[in-house]
Amino acid sequence: MSQFNLSAFEEEAHEMWTHAFESNPSDLEKYYLNVAFPYPSGAMHVGHGRTYIVPDVVARFWRMRQKQVLFPMAFHVTGAPVVGISKRIANKDEKTIRLYRDLYRVPQNILDKFTDPLTIVRHFADEYQRVMTSCGLSIDWRRRFITVDPTYSKFIEWQWKHLYDAGHVIKGAHPVRYCTVDENPVGDHDLLEGDKAEVIKFTLVMFRFGDAFIPCATLRPETIHGVTNLWANPDVTYAKIRLDGKPWIVSKEAAEKLALQDHTVEVTGEIRGSDLVGKKVSHPLCGEVPILPAPFVDPDMASGMVMSVPAHAPFDYIALRDLQQKGQYMEIKPIPLIRVEGYGEIPAQYAVEKAGIQNQMDSRMDALTQEIYSAEFSKGKLFDKYGGKPVRVAREEVAELMQQKYDSVVMYEFDQRPVVCRCGNRVRVKILHDQWFLKYGDPAWKQEVQDHLDTMALVPTEVRTEFDRTIWWLKDWACTRRVGLGTKFPWDPAQLIEPLSDSTVYMAYYTIAHKIREIEPKLLTPEVFDYIFLGKESEDLPEKKKLDAMRKEFLYWYPYDFRFSAKDLISNHLTFQLFHHCTVFAGQKDKLPKGMVVFGMGLLNGAKMSSSKGNVFLLEDAVKEFGGDTVRMFLMGSAEPWQDFDWRNELVLSTKKQIERFYNTVMEIKDAAGEPHDIDRWLKSRLQMHIAKTTEALENFQTRQALQEAYFGIETDLKWYRRRLPKDCDGSRELHDLCSVWVRLLAPFIPFTGEHLWKELAGEGLISFAPWPVADAKLVSPKIELAEELLARTVEDIESIVKLIQLQPKAITIALAPEWKHQIFRTIAKAEDKNTVIKEIMKDESMRKRGKETTDTTKQCTTLIHRLPPHVVAPLVQDPINEKAVFDAAKGFLEHEFGVPVHVVMAEEAGHVKALTALPFKPAIIIE
Ligand SMILES: [Zn+2]
Repeated sequence: MSQFNLSAFEEEAHEMWTHAFESNPSDLEKYYLNVAFPYPSGAMHVGHGRTYIVPDVVARFWRMRQKQVLFPMAFHVTGAPVVGISKRIANKDEKTIRLYRDLYRVPQNILDKFTDPLTIVRHFADEYQRVMTSCGLSIDWRRRFITVDPTYSKFIEWQWKHLYDAGHVIKGAHPVRYCTVDENPVGDHDLLEGDKAEVIKFTLVMFRFGDAFIPCATLRPETIHGVTNLWANPDVTYAKIRLDGKPWIVSKEAAEKLALQDHTVEVTGEIRGSDLVGKKVSHPLCGEVPILPAPFVDPDMASGMVMSVPAHAPFDYIALRDLQQKGQYMEIKPIPLIRVEGYGEIPAQYAVEKAGIQNQMDSRMDALTQEIYSAEFSKGKLFDKYGGKPVRVAREEVAELMQQKYDSVVMYEFDQRPVVCRCGNRVRVKILHDQWFLKYGDPAWKQEVQDHLDTMALVPTEVRTEFDRTIWWLKDWACTRRVGLGTKFPWDPAQLIEPLSDSTVYMAYYTIAHKIREIEPKLLTPEVFDYIFLGKESEDLPEKKKLDAMRKEFLYWYPYDFRFSAKDLISNHLTFQLFHHCTVFAGQKDKLPKGMVVFGMGLLNGAKMSSSKGNVFLLEDAVKEFGGDTVRMFLMGSAEPWQDFDWRNELVLSTKKQIERFYNTVMEIKDAAGEPHDIDRWLKSRLQMHIAKTTEALENFQTRQALQEAYFGIETDLKWYRRRLPKDCDGSRELHDLCSVWVRLLAPFIPFTGEHLWKELAGEGLISFAPWPVADAKLVSPKIELAEELLARTVEDIESIVKLIQLQPKAITIALAPEWKHQIFRTIAKAEDKNTVIKEIMKDESMRKRGKETTDTTKQCTTLIHRLPPHVVAPLVQDPINEKAVFDAAKGFLEHEFGVPVHVVMAEEAGHVKALTALPFKPAIIIE
């Protein structure tokens, strides 16, 4: 008998699978699934493993369901990160070299060539393919491409022509997130930190300081009337600058930022914060106020100076109170200027005192600030002496006035910090001119996407609200970059289409990726793609025969059925692709995506996996150490795809033992030759249920639930089955069929072991294409299952009693409940109102006669029914079993199990007081 040897099985299977998963249009119904393609700039870890194994399990399942399945893969190499990596390697950056040499184990002779960014992505694309194959991914590799292939660029140009023609691509000046090191706008996935930060427009209020200005950023310019002082950080050295020719004092960071926002900035000197403290500044709308010291002022926030409005800003109020508690600046009083109902004379003071806040560090300060700001905005009114207008009106007017009369300018800044680029540099807000945008802010476009999303299948269903939110929250998107790899922007060839914008319709490209290569890129005009994807005829199309073959592929496969991706891509990629599909395939609703499955995150020993922090377990190492099937089964069984999973080596090891146990069991029983017994009927009946439940779970992408049924469910049944076999029997010849079903149910999860066992079972062809088992309703017998369940529960009861009394039993008596107790049991189970059921039972004269016995039994049966699973109670009511017959038939089995004589009697004949406790489905057990 061949031994369990995962690596040998893997070798065998890889040989059989070469080209096996290349998929072409056929007469079968198609199933097209795809997964967000990887950016191959490093080695894969086990977290990536799950991302690709889930769709593989699904692909394998539907293939066995006899669908024509397409599961393609490509590599996303567009963008700047890999350019940065190659630069750092060229500069001999020790940290980067360590990562690539030691963690990713790139051989030195290859690492030397990593100064070329394309070499990096080509190397890792090959590595990805190798490792994905080692995990048994059933991918059609003929369709592999990278996003800088010339043919792919032609496809992107075509896609963008449609976006442009639809009016979704515009040019303008816009504030964008920008990295001054990369000299590039920064997208979500170029960020190490701060991906939730938004760009906010501030008004700089210009305070006069001698002949210079000190600007303070505010979102509430109307509060100028209540300014009592400025705050400067005494420990910061500020910069004296000339901004557009005028002298200003700001933090050094602010000087740098303002230079990125359409100003010329010249640094002329510096001044210490401590030298500013105590000096006076003035503004026409608030008069002369002093500068006070405040260590909390962050030089990296806006201008680095803050105007203080203690009557309306809780932070300012507390900072002032702290100083005054030390006896300083006693002459300063908060100046209220806004009346807002429910917040007293001085709103900030009122709220802080009401909440009992002691100091600035109180964690409730941010929430309190938000509360006052929104109360004042929604229902606040300025005092009459300041114009008497509602805050929401006055705010705009004051901002206007300040810009026209009082030298104010606008400054853009993030609403949270820090925002850090992948290169390690702080990201700034820059106003880009000649910047191109995708108009995701356009409500009409949003509505198109919303209408389509409403028709899509989303798994799990909870993600729908997040998609809805993203559609309406998205703003115009800077879609070009100046540095990196990618397709040239057709309307400005000095710029490139950025990475998230060139990977939105490539699922359609997969359908033709292997064929389009046969045509020279320069022939691939937009008309060619219009023909392939939209069926638009035009004159002089080249290579018509090849185009027709591609059109056929596209029509066969598209739209895709499901797209798989991690949940952090909902807020960008997964939603972007819907916008693009809606435009490119406008008027062709039957070509729009049908469904999406969104994954949870991966943890390693309880902590988030992160390559940059070194907290990863490489997928290749996992496959080598535990075997491909083990990695797959662990990742699929430890959590449902949308839940977070935690990789722990000790648990993975026990998964390997489970596969070995499965293998050995199949090998032991597959050639059993005995005659079928009664218990074979039970096993068959149970198997139908496991088939049905595994199938249903996989149709719903519940990999964990499916494994529970297909692995543990059947294993547990088999254990009981083998226990119930007569002494002289190893199992019936029908076990061979069970093995065939069992191996097929597990094949999507452990395909290497599956292929090997399929051969051992003399199955036809590859198990990867073998028909998925179908539950046969004719083989299901609830009555047989019920009888077996009664027996199994009774055996368990006996075992626990024997353990409890710690005596070697001499004989066991099983006393069965009389028919009148069964009657009570059924009445309760059927009753809608369990509280009045006793009345109903007492209507029967014979029950009334039993008196207390009846009420006691009613209580006991009610408790029992609560404890029994519904799948037991329901058939017991409909079609009761004969308990006596069940135990009489099992007498031999029980005597063998416990090694003592077993008596089966009706409780009333037992002559033992304990026998009277017998209940339906729970006989009394008397041990002597
Ligand atoms: Zn950068």
